[in-house]
Amino acid sequence: MKPSDIVRYLDRYVIGQDDAKRTLAVAVYTHRRKLALGRANATGMDKSNVLIVGPTGCGKTLLCATLARQLSIPFVTADATVLAQSQYVGQEIEAIMARLLERADGDLRQAEQGIVFIDEVDKLRAAGDGGKSAASGESVQHALLKIMEGYPVHLPDGRIIDTRGILFICGGAFVGLEQIMERTRSYGYVATTQGDDEKILERLNSRIKPTDLVEFGLIPEFTGRLPVVVRVQPLSREMLARVMVEPHDALYRQFQAILAEEGVRLVVAPRVFGQIADIALEYKAGARSLRGIFEELLTPVLFAIPDRPEIKQVHIPSLYEAPLFVGEEELPGNPGEVP
Ligand code: ADP
Repeated sequence: MKPSDIVRYLDRYVIGQDDAKRTLAVAVYTHRRKLALGRANATGMDKSNVLIVGPTGCGKTLLCATLARQLSIPFVTADATVLAQSQYVGQEIEAIMARLLERADGDLRQAEQGIVFIDEVDKLRAAGDGGKSAASGESVQHALLKIMEGYPVHLPDGRIIDTRGILFICGGAFVGLEQIMERTRSYGYVATTQGDDEKILERLNSRIKPTDLVEFGLIPEFTGRLPVVVRVQPLSREMLARVMVEPHDALYRQFQAILAEEGVRLVVAPRVFGQIADIALEYKAGARSLRGIFEELLTPVLFAIPDRPEIKQVHIPSLYEAPLFVGEEELPGNPGEVP
């Protein structure tokens, strides 16, 4: 599968994030090619692990999970904060690898070509000591570094998993990185750059440099193992609204399918998605809060429908108005009774 095919597939499930889609598609494509060529060498130097930077709930995990599903690659996620709180980081890492093997249905060879997504690596800042008993951020970085470098991991069941072919994708919000980048930005050789030069400079400056990440608190060796850095953007109101409608497994489609099972057509007015998006923006959790708001909106409907077999359609005109239940005899035409 070519990178362009991968991006097309991702487009079906992930709204926006075009830069991230392309970069990830190329990274995974290249990684697979290297594996096919047997070039992932002993030190893992050849491997281009990826760092995805961007706010929570904007598709970092979704991108990786979708990608892995499309390419039938075993995939697991792990949380760096959990690792940092653990007394035995080594055991936690073994458990992650064991889960990867599980996802590969016990096929070691498959697992050894899997993808591991480690979220919240920005919480592993070297400065914080994270308390006495817990592992400090920095020591977790060192532990992760080992598997990212390709050290084998002994599994609880006695088997050994070779991590050289495993692609590691790290994610984090990296709040405050912008300010660091602002300080380290380049203004070019000539102070009066204009036009195209300025655009190129802008592009270069929007790149996250390893030094920025080190200043943020990642150790240089760790950033060195994450040569591909990609950003996801915050989702706008319009994009949040699209998230509920457009993806193949979008919330709206899911609930339409559930109600269709009961012989009911669900019609949600377009403005409702904008209203939900407005609330989600306030919650500042990206698309994460959409499901909760949407489900709450539909609770009265899902509650009433099983008791009222005569209902054939439900209209939701607004987030702030009661749903309209439409019986068979009222179809088509009048909006019907208000419960
Ligand atoms: P994070 O960036 O924190 O990893 P996730 O990828 O886990 O966020 O997103 C949480 C949920 O929000 C996803 O399961 C998905 O339903 C929805 N979501 C987030 N971003 C997008 C997006 N760009 N397109 C479609 N759905 C999205």
